Amino acid sequence: MQQNLKRIAGGNWVISQIHRWTLYKTVIERMLAHGSSAWCLNPTFKMKRKLSSIQRPFLLHISGAYRTTPTAALQTILGIPPLHMQLQFEARFTSIYRLRIPLPPFITDTQPHDLEMKATGWSTHPSEYLKPNQISFEDGEAYIAREDINIFTDGSKIDHGVGATFCVLTNDIWAYQWSAKLNDNNTVFQAELTALHEAVIYASHLPNHNTSKIHIDNRASIMESSNSKSTNETARKIFKILLSNPRIKVSWVKAHAGNIGNERADQLAKDATQHGQPYSHTKLPKPHIKGLLRKRMLEEWQTSWKNGDTGIKIYTIMPSVSLRPTNLIREDVIFFSQHGPFPSYLKRFHMSDSDYCSCGGIGTALHYATECIYTVSWHMRKTAPNFEQE
Ligand SMILES: [Zn+2]
Repeated sequence: MQQNLKRIAGGNWVISQIHRWTLYKTVIERMLAHGSSAWCLNPTFKMKRKLSSIQRPFLLHISGAYRTTPTAALQTILGIPPLHMQLQFEARFTSIYRLRIPLPPFITDTQPHDLEMKATGWSTHPSEYLKPNQISFEDGEAYIAREDINIFTDGSKIDHGVGATFCVLTNDIWAYQWSAKLNDNNTVFQAELTALHEAVIYASHLPNHNTSKIHIDNRASIMESSNSKSTNETARKIFKILLSNPRIKVSWVKAHAGNIGNERADQLAKDATQHGQPYSHTKLPKPHIKGLLRKRMLEEWQTSWKNGDTGIKIYTIMPSVSLRPTNLIREDVIFFSQHGPFPSYLKRFHMSDSDYCSCGGIGTALHYATECIYTVSWHMRKTAPNFEQE
């Protein structure tokens, strides 16, 4: 694969660095990650070394750096973690999210059953569908009838708090309200769906002769809940209740448009983010566990970068690792790593007996950039020694 990538990239850096980077991340790394949960959950020292030797030619090829440039420096410059850490991250994610096997407590306390799963298979038989008048995307305000049971739902996420609520208006009286505080890691969409779910459960228990109309300002929740093919478990539960209760209707209402019910729900949901009753039926979303495992990987990578004994030159200018590639071009990497066509480098790697420049000075990268008489027209001002790092 490395040879093939080299061939399509061309000998003369025909495709740009960012495209070589993308090819590595989206093609090569995906192939290497195949089945990692079976073999890379706890890589041995030998495996780490092997994986590093597989990754290294790609890093050299993407960066265009000299062959002697330390792997750790290339990883930091390119924003690509050591391969065994990346694959261990994939393995951990697959293990807890897809295989439902718990991870050791030092990685996370989150258990597989705390996580929201994608529903599979059919939710209902395809011949079963909602009545056309059950769902409306028209602004519902005009259709609020006094004698109907009007339910307003809302979800809210502010200042690390997540709240869900519904309130019931009938014959101009606020007859009932429900609200709850979700887990801080839940999304606002989950809060909207939870509110709608609780609202349809409430409406389904009302006496049979009433028509209930649920007003919600979130179109995505209505779309998801009226879609029989949805993979969202909460949306599926809502769909099933709507299916067996055709007198429950759901309609969209414009937010912040002065609708009295919507305004009330909005305020109740905001209050619930701080003071609501804790609610634990809504599970944590997939991005939550992914983010958490990514954080663990970055911590481990940061520690190894900090404590490593290679790539010191790059470490002084880039002490923190990140998953974003830096914008260093090939020449920058050569300059900052000092692995390049400099006498000091050639001597260090036994390709020359002398580290002297023909002007008589020591031929380092900084020498050519600031003081060599043969490169005057390219000079930048020489810094005071205490500012060299900056
Ligand atoms: Zn010189």
